[in-house]
Amino acid sequence: MNNHMTRRKLFQILSAAGLGPAFASRVVADESGKGPKGKEQTLGSMLQTTSVENRPRHPAFIRDGKVIQPERPLPVFQETDVLVVGGGPAGWAAAVSAARAGAKTMVVERYGCFGGLWTGGIVLVVISTHATENGQMMQVVRGMGGELLERHAKFDNAIINRGETKFNPTTDPEATMFLMDEMIQEAGVKTLFHCWATDVIMDGGTVRGVVFDSKAGRQAILAKVVVDTTGDGDIFAAAGAEHAQRLHAIGLVHRLGNVDRADLVKLKKAGYRTLGALEPQPSVRWVNLRGPSANGLDINELTRLQFEHRSKIWNHVQKMRKTPGGESLFLLQTAPQLGVRTTRLLAGTYQLTYKEAREPRKFPDTVAVGGAQNSKHPGWPIPYGVLVPKKLDGLLTAGRSISMDDKLVEDGRLIGACLTTGHAAGAAAAVAAKDGCRPRDVSIPKLQKLLVSQGAYLG
Ligand SMILES: Cc1cc2nc3c(=O)[nH]c(=O)nc-3n(C[C@H](O)[C@H](O)[C@H](O)COP(=O)(O)OP(=O)(O)OC[C@H]3O[C@@H](n4cnc5c(N)ncnc54)[C@H](O)[C@@H]3O)c2cc1C
Repeated sequence: MNNHMTRRKLFQILSAAGLGPAFASRVVADESGKGPKGKEQTLGSMLQTTSVENRPRHPAFIRDGKVIQPERPLPVFQETDVLVVGGGPAGWAAAVSAARAGAKTMVVERYGCFGGLWTGGIVLVVISTHATENGQMMQVVRGMGGELLERHAKFDNAIINRGETKFNPTTDPEATMFLMDEMIQEAGVKTLFHCWATDVIMDGGTVRGVVFDSKAGRQAILAKVVVDTTGDGDIFAAAGAEHAQRLHAIGLVHRLGNVDRADLVKLKKAGYRTLGALEPQPSVRWVNLRGPSANGLDINELTRLQFEHRSKIWNHVQKMRKTPGGESLFLLQTAPQLGVRTTRLLAGTYQLTYKEAREPRKFPDTVAVGGAQNSKHPGWPIPYGVLVPKKLDGLLTAGRSISMDDKLVEDGRLIGACLTTGHAAGAAAAVAAKDGCRPRDVSIPKLQKLLVSQGAYLG
């Protein structure tokens, strides 16, 4: 080597020749720098030796042209009172409620954050937080969801449209994720991110837990009550509960950056009527893409739509950037989570209809109240039966998969309603676990008392 050539220079030459990566760690690791506290910091110092984790191996094999998975014991990761599968608005509220009620609570979430479509899907407007009761607008999303929205107010630029006379606030997704983490951790919920629940553990007609997959292999969690808040009813379907399946528009939300630097007048003249919906950050807008009606459980469809939507959004933004007034705009983000609106709906011990939700009807087993999209009509009481499977025991659902008729789906799947039904399911699961009874046998007065003590609004 030329004595005057530094290792960095050598690395640059190798990189230019396409040989960089193979040499990178060795060369860079040799370079040391001073860290913030004057400590030697090298890439090498971060790379540590650890023992190889020998995960159990039970590979599938082919017999008579069929792929066979051999019988095998599964390690039990943990036993718990309440296991919540899916950490979207409903699952998050369920977990915090159950843990605050004193139940040992776990959540399994396939991604790395709470919030589901609200945060990962960049659906930022919490619709149906309010309704009009006795001529007065009032907040129906209280309890866990209400507290979460309230906590946003302690930060600048974390929430807009929240206040005495305002409804349907929009939140900043990072703030929401931060606050969801905060409340989950304060409540003492054991969380497993990056774990995908794939099957159920059954004891006759009762769900006793779930099987989940992760980088650590396939494991089991045993629970007294499982709350299925996967949004898609993955768990109740695996357990064989009666349910319906629907197609709905599948979209992809994206965010535009530098909106405050764009010339909206010029863009309007060019035919761009809006740049999207307001966010707490003034320079950012979120843009909904509705998409075609499709099957959210079909992996080929999901893949196709992911490709199509991303390319459409990219090209759309590039076009805007070439339009006078739009030069500074850029595509800040496409949502990490595809926008699947509705798939499975549980057949519950009660199916709530749109007609009932628009009548001034009270249920003796009301456990939550849904709001009005425009805050103008009365809240709609939600009976416990929409969370309870007709026959299956050991399980409840909440969120966008509750037992409702097709017309009510547009109300029942909104974030506001998911927060309140999730809260109800978590509280019910805690009561069932504590009393050693089936979720369907939970004492309603006891459940309602718990919900009210946790701040829920029951009408
Ligand atoms: C494009 C679009 C726009 C929308 N716009 C609005 C709006 O403006 N306002 C509004 O209020 N609502 C809106 N909605 C509806 C709302 O966002 C959702 O219905 C709501 O978030 C559903 O909450 P959830 O908790 O039931 O389910 P989800 O939000 O879907 O959360 C489910 C969670 O479960 C996890 N999960 C799923 N399967 C598994 C598994 N097998 N194992 C482990 N984890 C799993 C997921 O990763 C996710 O975190 C919109 C929806 C879409 C798709």
